Amino acid sequence: MAKQPMLKFVNIERDMPSKRDANLRNKDFNEIYAEYADAKAKEQASRCSQCGVPYCQAHCPLHNNIPDWLRMTAMGRLEEAYAISQATNTFPEICGRICPQDRLCEGNCVIEQSGHGTVTIGSVEKYITDTAWENGWVKPISVMAERDQSVGVIGAGPGGLAAADMLRRAGLQVTVYDRYDRAGGLLTYGIPGFKLEKDVVMRRIDQLEQSGVEFVMNCNVGEDLSFDAIRGKHDAVVIATGVYKTRDLEGPGADADGIVRAIDYLTVSNKLSFGDEVPEYEDGSLNAKGKKVVVIGGGDTAMDCVRTAIRQGAESVKCLYRRDRANMPGSQREVQNAEEEGVIFEWLAAPKGFAGDPVNAVQVQKMRLGAPDASGRQSPEVIEGADYNEAADLVIKALGFEPEDLPKLWGVDGLEVTRWGTVKAEFKTGKTSLDGVFAVGDIVRGASLVVWAIKDGRDCADAVLTYLNEARAVAAE
Ligand SMILES: Cc1cc2nc3c(=O)[nH]c(=O)nc-3n(C[C@H](O)[C@H](O)[C@H](O)COP(=O)(O)OP(=O)(O)OC[C@H]3O[C@@H](n4cnc5c(N)ncnc54)[C@H](O)[C@@H]3O)c2cc1C
Ligand code: SF4
Repeated sequence: MAKQPMLKFVNIERDMPSKRDANLRNKDFNEIYAEYADAKAKEQASRCSQCGVPYCQAHCPLHNNIPDWLRMTAMGRLEEAYAISQATNTFPEICGRICPQDRLCEGNCVIEQSGHGTVTIGSVEKYITDTAWENGWVKPISVMAERDQSVGVIGAGPGGLAAADMLRRAGLQVTVYDRYDRAGGLLTYGIPGFKLEKDVVMRRIDQLEQSGVEFVMNCNVGEDLSFDAIRGKHDAVVIATGVYKTRDLEGPGADADGIVRAIDYLTVSNKLSFGDEVPEYEDGSLNAKGKKVVVIGGGDTAMDCVRTAIRQGAESVKCLYRRDRANMPGSQREVQNAEEEGVIFEWLAAPKGFAGDPVNAVQVQKMRLGAPDASGRQSPEVIEGADYNEAADLVIKALGFEPEDLPKLWGVDGLEVTRWGTVKAEFKTGKTSLDGVFAVGDIVRGASLVVWAIKDGRDCADAVLTYLNEARAVAAE
């Protein structure tokens, strides 16, 4: 085995410049911070034991070469670290910020497993790519040879954008269609800015635009433009529309005013961060300020809602979830963040109905965990006689998302879907039942993660290229 270079161990306490030191060296805060971030990244990177059994890499959906870019970072060779990191990931600075690392790379770090605390892989990944942007190492996409074939991508979320990026690099003419006014999908209008700053997303969109990717915004496919028209215009089509149908609440009063969908609430909050005028915020209907907010659900969307409500100045924020803390689908790290910010979690609690219109209380029934269901998870059961009322003047439904019925909405008969309504597509290639039509991301997997959408987009781009090359070869015969 090749000899590994010696790593310099960085001690953050020792290497972090002191305030006095900064004053003496006439430095401003940004410089101090940059030095601190650099020392911190190196400190973390140098903690990697280069164990030779990179479970972190195996558990990263993109199989990022984590040990190598950690080693380069520890040695201060950041440009090389960036080159390794971006070779497998279209948006490393985004994944570094918002991947649930505790369930992926970091949760499988051998140092974590041996009880010494994980190497903070995500924050090093973010640091490397942010530094690359600052230093001009992130180059515009350069196309070696233009091709006359074109691809239409429906949906400008991470799945569609990752596919567009790879296809454009291969010289294809790429048009992305999206019903929103800005590209980015849930990166732009779902995930809050305190987790993912919007300029970080927008500079990627700019990069794609500058490289020749065409964006057709405010275009709701199925309404403003038919799927068949897109199919007729392009040599291949990638469907990347995500999942947006909100699972609904049942029970008396569930349609009262003041009971809103998480996606609407978060979209409004994100639009504000762009400086847009948003009537639903101004008129108070999607504004938590001064309100008793109850969020229903235990996933990451619920966590984003509670933390947004805290930032909007809610009087109180409670989260109701029908199972217990150990069985919630959301990241434990996010729950801890929310608790530290003042959110109160009511575990084993489910809504039975709602009082008032506009709503003024949630009727809550207490639950206990019973026998495991078919999936092996313990089913929540109602505890009779333990109901109570929880005061609320804004109730946010965050119970998860389901796919819209695309074949019906778009009037496409041959597009096969699964029994869950997701588009049926080969996992490795994204090929659907229609010739030349591929699908990626949440619309195939159901509500999932950004990193999986990126992986699908990249894999699918390869398959689209193969398809178009074969089509060209047949045409030339
Ligand atoms: C609130 C929230 C927070 C999340 N937080 C995280 C997180 O922290 N980390 C993480 O990894 N994942 C997170 N996720 C999940 C992640 O955002 C998704 O898995 C990911 O965005 C899926 O990417 P996608 O490209 O498949 O779809 P999307 O990002 O949903 O993009 C789909 C795009 O298609 C467009 N579209 C849909 N239908 C049409 C149509 N008919 N015509 C034209 N355009 C259309 C939409 O406008 C949208 O722009 C979160 C999800 C939510 C809802
Ligand atoms: S992409 Fe996500 S899972 Fe992979 S190394 Fe980065 S943070 Fe970890």
